Amino acid sequence: PVLQNQIAAGEVVERPANVAKELIENSLDAGATRIEINLENGGQGLIQVQDNGHGLAAEDIPLALTRHATSKIQGIEDLVRIASLGFRGEALPSIASVSRLSFASAPAGVEAGHEVEVAFGEMASEGPVALQTGTRIQVRDLFSNTPARLKFLKTQATETRRCQETVFKIALAHLDKEFTLSIQGRNQLHLVKHQALPQRLAAVWPQQVIDGLLPLQGERHGLQVEGVIGSPRTAQGRAQRIHFFINGRPVQDKILLKALREGYKGALLSKEYPQAVLFLTLPLEEVDINVHPAKSEVRFRDERSVAGLVCTTVRNALEKCDP
Ligand code: ADP
Ligand code: MG
Repeated sequence: PVLQNQIAAGEVVERPANVAKELIENSLDAGATRIEINLENGGQGLIQVQDNGHGLAAEDIPLALTRHATSKIQGIEDLVRIASLGFRGEALPSIASVSRLSFASAPAGVEAGHEVEVAFGEMASEGPVALQTGTRIQVRDLFSNTPARLKFLKTQATETRRCQETVFKIALAHLDKEFTLSIQGRNQLHLVKHQALPQRLAAVWPQQVIDGLLPLQGERHGLQVEGVIGSPRTAQGRAQRIHFFINGRPVQDKILLKALREGYKGALLSKEYPQAVLFLTLPLEEVDINVHPAKSEVRFRDERSVAGLVCTTVRNALEKCDP
């Protein structure tokens, strides 16, 4: 099973940012309202995610670290209608097979927390630990047993930046929750709860961009889109500040990117990209987000109507501001 998990790890986990994403999504699944992320050495040294969620009972921790132990699928219907963020039950066992992983948790009402440590897929130790209600996952020495994976990583600065982007992207879809990110023990990002979207964006985006943001909202045949887009005046040469979410999940999608730029038609140069944070809501049967285990790719049942709605909504928002 260790080897099997290492193979799965290659699909789910390519780099520290993927680990951070899986851990943060688990915290959200656990109902956390406060999530703290700590990174050391580009995530190779340490990726720690601590939350105030509902925790996991001591006897269930080893199960969570075993392949396909997901507690989130009750029946075949759930496979079709994926409601919670995680559903595959392979993230933790995969990560644990290529790192030293500690899972410490304290459900509400227990006297002490419980910690289980796994080293490269093998159970290493287990015992009580002092912890507030919630869960703390620590991942150390990522890929140190898989040299091929290790070689694939970029510089620590680059991997750190990718982790930062991942944290920020997820935080955009969870404005009601608090996120903190520390790097080498120093606070890098602190997003308080109940922020409005522009306020949260202002933690990372330049004020000039924030000042030009236009709100947008559109709906057609059960598809909805809402969010903010940047003024054509602040367009940039890279598709850097563009975030799409489908039913709350971050996705990357060429069709959406094309539709967004199409909505600006005439207002952008051929190599320019606007800023955008767009949240799409569509019936679950209209979209397949399970194309890739890292879950950031999508396939639409009817991509033309999705693209059409995005393009029209963007165009309407721009016309309203500049008649
Ligand atoms: P999945 O999220 O697909 O169920 P994972 O491998 O990511 O699979 O996690 C395995 C299980 O571990 C989860 O189903 C959940 O029961 C438990 N778990 C993981 N992270 C947390 C957390 N932060 N708080 C509570 N339980 C957690
Ligand atoms: Mg998960």
